[in-house]
Parts: sequence; C-alpha cells; structure tokens
Amino acid sequence: MIDGKTRFAPSPTGLIHLGNARTALFNRLFGKTFLLRIEDTDRRRCRPEFVAALFEDLRWLELDWDEGPASPRPDRYFQSRRADLYARYYARLEHEGLAYPCFCSVEELAAAREAFRRQGKPPRYPGTCARLTADEIRTRLDQGLRPTLRFRVPKGKAVVFEDLIRGRQCFATDDIGDFIIRRADDTPAFLFCNAVDDALMGVTHVLRGEDHLANTPRQLLILEALDLPAPRYGHLALILGADGTPLSKRNGSRSIQELRRQGYLPAAVLNFLARLGHPYPEDRLYSLEELASGFQLQRLNKSPARFDPAQLDHWQKIAVRRSDDATLWQWLDDETRSRIPEKRRRDFLDLVRNNWSFPNEAERWAAILFTDRLEPDEEARRVLAQTDRQWFQHALAAARRHPTDYRAFLTELKTTTGVKGKKLFQPLRAALTGRLNGPELERVYALLGPDRIQTRLSHWT
Ligand code: GLU
Repeated sequence: MIDGKTRFAPSPTGLIHLGNARTALFNRLFGKTFLLRIEDTDRRRCRPEFVAALFEDLRWLELDWDEGPASPRPDRYFQSRRADLYARYYARLEHEGLAYPCFCSVEELAAAREAFRRQGKPPRYPGTCARLTADEIRTRLDQGLRPTLRFRVPKGKAVVFEDLIRGRQCFATDDIGDFIIRRADDTPAFLFCNAVDDALMGVTHVLRGEDHLANTPRQLLILEALDLPAPRYGHLALILGADGTPLSKRNGSRSIQELRRQGYLPAAVLNFLARLGHPYPEDRLYSLEELASGFQLQRLNKSPARFDPAQLDHWQKIAVRRSDDATLWQWLDDETRSRIPEKRRRDFLDLVRNNWSFPNEAERWAAILFTDRLEPDEEARRVLAQTDRQWFQHALAAARRHPTDYRAFLTELKTTTGVKGKKLFQPLRAALTGRLNGPELERVYALLGPDRIQTRLSHWT
C-alpha cells in the first residue's frame, strides 16, 4: 500500500463487470486513500440507473471509498457537474494558443485518416484548423458551425514516463495528432477532464487497463500545458476470456449484479479478482485488509490474465464454507427460509455450508427435506420398485427404535436385513430423499426428524 491517493473513475454507461471491478479493487488495495469519481460527461451514453447500480455493486463488494459521492460536497465527484471548472481551463488553453476550435466535418476527418492509411502512416489529425485566423473562426461560427476544441500538440518532442507496471514509456509527439479535448456539444472529452480531475483531486497513483496506455502521453501533455501535477500511471494487463480475446460479455464476463443475483458472495468475488494477474502466497480466503497488505506492484503480471470460471467457483465454495450462520441465512432465498422449521435451522445451514455453493442448490434440498409430498425422481423410483416391502418394514422398525440415533438405526438395519453397501444405501436414500445422491445420510436423518423419517419409510411398506 502506498501513502497516496488512488481512484476508480468509471463511466456509468453500463453495469460494472469483472474487469472494472478488478481495476477498482487494485486501486483500493494499493492506495491509502481511495477516491471514487463518476465520469458522466457523455450525455448520450451515461444513465443515472447505472450510477445507482455502481454504488450498490461497490458497497456490496465492500470497496468503500474514502472520498467520493458519499463525502461532503458529493457534486464535486460527478464530472457532469464540473462544467464551469473545465470551462476555465479550456479558456486558459485557448488564450495561450494551446488549444483551437476545429470545424472539420466527420467526412473530412475520415478522408484525412484514409490518406494517412494509404501512405502506410498511423492516422492522425492533419492540422487543417490549426492555423485559422480570428476572422476565419468568426465566419464559421456565424455560419452556425459548432466546433470541437483541439489541443495543440507540441512538435518534435518526446513524452517519457515511468509506468508503475511496465517501466519506461516513450512517445514521440510527432506521432500524436492534435486531439479533441471538448466535443462539439460542449461536453468535455474523457482525456481532458479525467486528467484535470486527477490533478485537482490530488490523485497520486492511477492503475487502469492497458487500453488506456496511448491516452497517457496526451494526458501528460494536457497537465503540463496547464501546470498541473501529474499522477503516476500504471497500466494493468488485460483480462482475457477462454477464447483468448479480451474479456467481454461475449466470452464469459458477468456483471457484478449478475454474480450477486446468482448468489456469489463478495468474499469469493474479491478473492478471485485479486488473483487475476496478481499472485498471493496462500490459497485461502483473504480479508480485504490481508489482500491490501499482500498487494505489490512488482507482483502484477505484465501479460494478460485468463478468466477461468472454475476458479471463481472454487472461491465461492470456500467462501460458503467459511460463512457464519447469519450470513448464510440472509443469503438463502426467501422461499428457502420459509420452508425451514426454526428448530432445524442450524442443522440445515450446516448442511448447506458443507455441500453447496449456491442458494438454488440449497433451495432444491430444502424443498426435498421439508415437504410432506416427496416426489422421487426416476432413478429413485426404479430402486424403490425393486426393493421389497419387507425391507422397508425392517427399516421402519429400526427407525422407530432409534428415532434420533442414525448409527444405531443403521446397525440394526444391517443386522435385520443382512444387506449392506449400495443395496442398503440406495433404497434408504431413495425412500428418505427421493434421490440416489445427496448429502450425508446421517445429516439427512437428523434434519428430517423422526416423524418424517417414519412417514417416508412407511410409504413403501
Ligand atoms: N472513465 C474512464 C473509463 O471508465 C476512466 C479511465 C481511467 O481510469 O483513467 O474507462
């Protein structure tokens, strides 16, 4: 952990997925102060419901922020409410000739890009509007044209910075065309307000996806032009799906909301994410504090991490095993909770903890255990049909004699019927649970209780 300020700066254009959640987590683990900023300047794509979902997801993951929308003056942390402030910085750049209005149409820009491509050069803005006179600008404005604002990139320089993860990076400004810092609808472009806000909010370290690497020299140029302090940037290797392409909805990424609805526990998701591209020495569930104290930049992989859903389920299983009764009880569906008699609650939770990883599995078994109308499945039916009634009579007699002592019941059943192994357990499971597989019978025996055990056995006598 560094004695500095990190941040998570999502754009609320959709639900947060595993990739953004990992970025949030790494920043939270790395910085002593963790800031949340909502980058909602793109009016067409940002939606308030995604902001609400974002808060809910971060709180669920326990990725609380030290500074951000819940702090005093929450407005400060929504970029959509900072237009006046950005306007001052635009004015300053324009005044100093470091930014200029650009009237190029979409078609003109596309043609320019194409021309570069034909010459085998990377496309960039050709500088068409870079030298318009004040009169030319006024004429175009009078015609009703709405310009974008472009940053004037200095010629013949190199932007060099030490990436926190990837080491020294060097970009020639001649490869960077003058770029847009304000859109034609007057909203700030991401590059601009993201950099300005990091500086104004005192962010010292930024960990973000390597898809932002090419933005960094541009942002450093903006900050330099405005005399603002630049944070240290570190670019995280991407997460790839099983098909080797960047993780997306298409190849298995799920939103945090989806995971929550499926019953994943926050500790499972955090332990899974923390290890996506960063090893931890022990294969056990870490608390957030432990994850933070073990987090080291040098350990971050420079090559992409692979998303493996089996690993996520591995952590889920461990998290369920480690959950206390109160957590598990809350985690179950309402329907499951309503099925479980008070006096069986603890035993049932114990069963859940040791056998299942998701609430729907618990629900399936609650429905089997706590019903008066058990429906055996096809396999169980077949076994029940092949077992003679006398066998069940012996089982019933043994259950009556040992209503709460499973081992004594079993010993007696083995003795009186002379069968053991599969021949004994299959009909017993089939009669008691209507299934041939399931949790340990000893636990099932305790959970069903004497009345249900005897009713279920007598049904086949
Ligand atoms: N709003 C940007 C995004 O969601 C933030 C990028 C950054 O972390 O600098 O991609």
